Formats: sequence, C-alpha cells, structure tokens
Amino acid sequence: MNLILLGPPGAGKGTQAQLLKDRHGLVQLSTGDMLRAAVAAGSELGRQVKSIMEAGALVPDDIIIRMIGERIAQPDCAAGFILDGFPRTTVQAEALDKLLAEKGMKLDRVIELEVDDAALVARISGRFSCTACGAGYHDSYKKPAKPGVCDVCGGTKFNRRDDDKAETVKARLEAYHRQTAPLLPYYKARGVLGTVDGMASIEKVAGAVEKLLNSGLSS
Ligand code: AMP
Repeated sequence: MNLILLGPPGAGKGTQAQLLKDRHGLVQLSTGDMLRAAVAAGSELGRQVKSIMEAGALVPDDIIIRMIGERIAQPDCAAGFILDGFPRTTVQAEALDKLLAEKGMKLDRVIELEVDDAALVARISGRFSCTACGAGYHDSYKKPAKPGVCDVCGGTKFNRRDDDKAETVKARLEAYHRQTAPLLPYYKARGVLGTVDGMASIEKVAGAVEKLLNSGLSS
C-alpha cells in the first residue's frame, strides 16, 4: 500500500505517518526529515537547502525529486510507503506519477488532513521532539508521560525545529496554500483523495484515516 499524507504544516502528517508505519509496516518517507538530516550532517545538499528551509520556502523541485527518487528505489520501499511532505507542487506530483509508473507501483490513497490556519499556528509553536529517537510531542496536546523523559526511548534531550518560529510558520502556510493546495483537485480527479478532519484528537484522526484506507473511493 502506497499513501500520501497531504495537509498544511502542523496538520499532523508526521504523527499519523508514524502510527500508520507501526500499524501497517509501511516505510515513512518524510522529505522534511531527510532535508533536516542533510542540514545536520553539513552535506552539500544540506548547505544548498539550509537557508531556504529557514525562510519557510520550498526547496527547488529538481532537488526534491532526485532525493525522493533515490529513496523510493531502495528495497525497503517495495513493501509500501507513506509520503509525508511530498509532493508539495504540481511538478512534484507529476514526477511522482512518472516515478511510480516506471517502477510498476501505484498510489492507493491520498489522505488530506484538513485543519484551519489559526489552529496550526498554536499547534506548531508548541511542538518538540526527542533528539535521540525523533518521537514527537506537544506542550499542550501530547506531553511525555513523565516530564522530561521520552516515552519511546527514555531520552532526556528534546529539540524544537528552527522553522517552527511564528514568522516562519506564516511563510510555510502561504507556501502550502499557494503551491500545495492545488494538488487536492489533482488527486480528486484521479479518485484517490479522501479528506479527514484534522482538528480532532490524534486517536480520532487515526480512526478516520483507517476507515478511509478500508473504503472504496469514487473516481
Ligand atoms: P516539513 O518537515 O515537511 O514541514 O518540511 C520542512 C521544510 O523542508 C519545508 O518548509 C521546505 O523548506 C522543505 N521541504 C520539505 N519537503 C519539501 C518538498 N516536498 N518540496 C519542497 N520543499 C520541501
């Protein structure tokens, strides 16, 4: 099963991707995580994208398409994957179609997480993650069971993303509405799009996503 999670920054794509990964044994492909890893490693790619990401803008399509193409070609992706944060432009969506066709793979579902902009700013500004294992948390909605200790790995160091600052979030939301939202009609026309209310609790959203995966969607 190959899925795309589509929605603005802070909609819960990473959280739901993690749950889907655990439930269905799929590989989570987050272009944001891949780029952050490149920046942290100080690689050539990292140097190219650092300032773009800090500004909340989108990295050029050719860089992203090359990066995801290389990742999807790896053997672990054959069992199915969840794309989280890709595609983000029509050019990327068309490149993905081509990539999947070349590999004889298909796209089973595109799941839109719908959340209003005002809620997103609050969600994003409160989020942080475990430095050791990457597990995500939030100041209000998802605190570690024991304060200061990661539920998953017991790590005690946490960090907040540089681009989660209020002024950068605004640029990221604008990029979403201008460049990524046009993908909704693109996938609706292919009969693979399902929409979930992303304002609900993590568990309720997960339930709605599961229901969508089991439903036949009209074309
Ligand atoms: P994310 O973790 O998905 O919110 O991505 C963080 C940042 O990485 C974005 O604001 C962009 O600068 C960059 N990025 C991630 N995925 C893409 C993509 N598919 N296309 C262009 N830029 C991306």
